[in-house]
Parts: sequence; C-alpha cells; structure tokens
Amino acid sequence: MNYKEKWDMESIFPGGSGSEAFQKRLSEVRDSITAFSHELDNWELDEHSNDFTSLKGILQNYEKISNALGEMGSFANGLVSADVTDQKAMQNLNAVANLRKDLSSQNIILNKKISALTEDQFSKLLEEDFFKPMHFPLEEIRQKEKDLLSTQEETIINHLSLDGLQGWNNMYNQLVASIQIPVTEDNETVYYSAGQFENKMKSEENPKHREKLLKTWEETWKKKADLFSTTLNHLSGFRLNDYELHDYKDYMKVPLDYNRMEEETLDTMWDTITKNKAPFKKYFERKAQLIGVDQLGWLDVTASVDVGDYTNKRYTYNEAATFIIDNFKSFSPKMAEMAHRAFEEQWIEAEDRPGKRPGGYCSNLPESKQSRIFMTFAGSTSNVSTLAHELGHAFHSYVLRDLPLFNQRYAMNVAETASTFAELVVSNATIENARSNAEKINLLDVKIARSATFMMNIHARYIFERNLYNERQQGTVDSNRLQELMEEAQKEAYQDALRSYHPMFWATKLHFHITGVPFYNFPYTFGYFFSLGIYNRFLEDETLLEDDYIALLRDTASMTTEDLAEKHLNVDLRKPDFWQEALDSVHKDIEEFLELTESYV
Ligand SMILES: [Zn+2]
Repeated sequence: MNYKEKWDMESIFPGGSGSEAFQKRLSEVRDSITAFSHELDNWELDEHSNDFTSLKGILQNYEKISNALGEMGSFANGLVSADVTDQKAMQNLNAVANLRKDLSSQNIILNKKISALTEDQFSKLLEEDFFKPMHFPLEEIRQKEKDLLSTQEETIINHLSLDGLQGWNNMYNQLVASIQIPVTEDNETVYYSAGQFENKMKSEENPKHREKLLKTWEETWKKKADLFSTTLNHLSGFRLNDYELHDYKDYMKVPLDYNRMEEETLDTMWDTITKNKAPFKKYFERKAQLIGVDQLGWLDVTASVDVGDYTNKRYTYNEAATFIIDNFKSFSPKMAEMAHRAFEEQWIEAEDRPGKRPGGYCSNLPESKQSRIFMTFAGSTSNVSTLAHELGHAFHSYVLRDLPLFNQRYAMNVAETASTFAELVVSNATIENARSNAEKINLLDVKIARSATFMMNIHARYIFERNLYNERQQGTVDSNRLQELMEEAQKEAYQDALRSYHPMFWATKLHFHITGVPFYNFPYTFGYFFSLGIYNRFLEDETLLEDDYIALLRDTASMTTEDLAEKHLNVDLRKPDFWQEALDSVHKDIEEFLELTESYV
C-alpha cells in the first residue's frame, strides 16, 4: 500500500482557491439565504393549526444551506491551512464567514418561531416522523428561549457586547501582541513574541534553564499585570451583569447548560479526581530523580524523560497508516474501514513542507459526507497519535452523517469522546510496541503527564475561575489578588507537590479571556475521563460491541450528558463509580512507570 500524503480538494471544488465552481456555489447560496429569509418571514402559524408542512420545508432548507456553508468553509479553510500565503483562499473563507453571519441572524428568528408554538402544537409536532428525532434539540431551543429577555432587550445587549465583552477581548489580544521577551543569543539581545517564547520554554531540555525561562516569562507578564487585570475584570464583570439581567442565580448556569450537564456531575468528577491524586506524589518524586532535580518545577511536569541511550521509533506515513488501521480493527472494524477509506481517498493533508499552518484539526464535509484532516506528519510517535486523534473526530462525524443537522451539534464536553478514544487505542499500542524499556518509559511518561494536565493543571484553572467569579461578584479583583488566587489554586490542585508555580497564568492563558463560553476548562477534563472510562469499559466488558459504541456516539447531540451515559453505559455520572474506574487506569500507568524506572535511580 502506498498512500499519498496530500489531500484531495479537487473532488470538492476543482481549481483550488481560484475555483469557478466555488464562486458559482457561493452566489447560489447567497441567493438561497435571501429566499430563505423571505420564506421564514412569511411563515406564520395560527395557534389552532397543526399543519407543519411549511416548517418542515423551512428546516430542510435551513439544513441545506447550513451544509453548503459547512462544505465551502472546510474547503476554503483547508486551502488557507495548507498554504498560509494563499490570499484568494483567505478571501473565500471570509466570504463564507459573511454568509454564516447572515444565516445565524435567520437562525435567531427561526428559534423564536419554534419557541412560539404552543405546548399543544409542539407535542403534535413531535408525533410526526420528520420532527420526532429532533425532540431533544428542539426542546432545548424552546427552553433556552424562555431564559431570554425580550427581543429588543437581547438586541441591545448584543449590540453593547461588541464594544463591551468583545472589546475587552480585542484589548487582551493587543496586549498579548505587545509582549516582547528579551533573549540572549550569541551575546546579543533579541526579542521573542509570547508564542515564540512559550515554544522555547517548553522545548528547553535543561531543567535549570527551564526554571530561568519561567522566571523571565513571569516577570515580563507581571510588568503589564494591571492592564491584564483590567481586561479580565471587565470580561468577567460583563458576564456577571449579563447573568443578573437574565436573572440567572448562578454563574455556572451558562457553562453547564452549554455542556448539557448538571453541577452534581461536575462536582462528583472533581471530588473523585481529588481523591485520586495521592499516587502522583510518587510519580513526581521519581520524575524529579530521573531528570535530576530535587523537586519538579511548574514546567518539569510535562518535560520529557529520557533514560539511557535509545532512539524513539520513527514511522513512515505508510507504516503509521497500517499501524492505525490494524489497531482500530481490534476495537471496531467499522472505524478501521473508515480510516482505510480516509487514507485511500486522500482525506488527509499530512505532508511535511514549509508554508503550512501549525497544529492539526479535522473538519467535516457535510455534503460529501466525508472529512478532511489537516496535520504535519514528520514520523514521530506523537504524530501517529495525532493522526489517530483526528481520525477519531472523522469517525464521529461519519456515524452522525445521516442524522438531522440539529442532532449533530454535540457540545464541547463530548466533542473529544471519539478522538480521545481513537488516540488511546493507538497510543497504548505504541507503548506496547516499544522496542526498549527506555522508550517505553518515555511514552508512558507522556501519557501520565497528560493525565496530570487534566487532573491538576486544568483543575487549577477551574478552581481559579470559580474563585475569580466569587470575588468579582463583590467588586473588582486587583492584579496582586489575581496572582494570589492563581498560586493558591495551583497549590491546591497540585497538592503542594511542586517547587515552583505560575502565578501570572491567568494572564498568559488565552482561555480565560475568550468570549465564546466561560469556564473553558472543565469540558477538557470531562471529555478525557469520559472517553477513558468508555475505553476501559470496552476493554473489560466483552458484551459491549462496536455497535454499542457507535450508538453512543450517534446520541451525543440528542440528549443530556447524564442521559447519554445512563442509556449507553448504564452508569450514573453523578456517582463516583464511573470516574473511579477511569482513574484506576491512571494508577496502573503510574505503577508501571514506577516499576520500570526503579533501576534507573
Ligand atoms: Zn480533538
């Protein structure tokens, strides 16, 4: 087998960024949106009528337009990623974004009209075959609508948020762009941007140098601490005011609703994690010995462990493909078959060449019912894991492909279920296939350090953000207090196990300053352990079959997270058992690590 490392975009729209077919499609969709807005405007349902034929047509048209925009967006964005200098592709992408904005204005009106149906009409509607599968998302739309103020008031808030919430986010981005960090290279002082410096810090192999870099990093950000505290105070203040206007009693309502989960589930997850942190103490001690420091510093936790002389296994692209397909097969032949198709039909852009965007992602082509995966494959084990991860995302889209659009919109906390699952299958296989103890130790360490990120680093972010919102309700929180809150949160989350912390993390971490959703942290931890728990179940319970896994994925946007786990795994996420099971496997990893490294200290 000889797979090509470049993706096929020609079959979507021929001609690259200059594609005429793409331009033609763009203007067709523009016209469709105009027609759709008339159709929607003209639709009025008498409260005694139970004829939903027009609404059905409206939803079908909405879906058609939305799918077209998805297809065009993936195409345009793909071309931009594969060649960051492609100006035409950038223009195409902006054109799609504009149409998306137009459609989302129509979406607001559509939601209002769906919500205006009487209870009686709504239950009649759900008796029809077309609407029945959409029960949950439609109900959710109606529920959310009830939480809103009048159209006029919501419009005012949205307008003000452009110069409020959005404005402070812009300010944050500008401040970050103004960060310049002095670095001495060949006896000369050069200045690094925040992103460049962060890369340097994370790839520094000498622990002493790492610690020094962290100090410089902290000091640089501290110089602008007051400015960053102003932006963070206004971002959180804007949200709190918005919640108060809506009469939301708890600032957790929005992030929890967004993730379709209950607070009890979230609390149980963190409680169980907290009770399972003790083994990390031994792991941290051993890791400190292996890298030659007394106690791990903030950056050492995720630094790599290299014992003895060895080289990590390298993979050619074809080897990686075969390895992934073979390992998927042992869990799910259907997943393996889709992966095989993805390699064969060139769904993947993997070539290692200049001019590509960094990072990796998977994007959906709703019309072709395929995906496109973007990454740069250079042959490392972590590249193989990334490839498997993105193929997991593709598989998630693949099993949802024939469902109504509304039933494909899963939330952030379950968005990583299939990807983490696929990644676990493959990264565990790479650990088993390690050719030496030293290599195995290195790979196992990567896995445990990742668990530490979810259990501690992200826990610290969550604790900090809760404390920030609690104190912000009483007034502004100054930059000294923010540093205190962050250091306290980190000490609590890491159970005082580290030598150094990162008090300016609230300023350096972008996630605290985004405008989309607040608490951009716990869904990561939830997603990882939810997937790990499912993976362990499938490993141990032989009665669970691939179709059960697929059925679970298919329901990810059709019920609450608690119902999803109850229906497909027969577990109550509000109780610790499921979480404990997932965490037991982390303990096993740590035990194995301690055993393997014994002879190296
Ligand atoms: Zn992902």
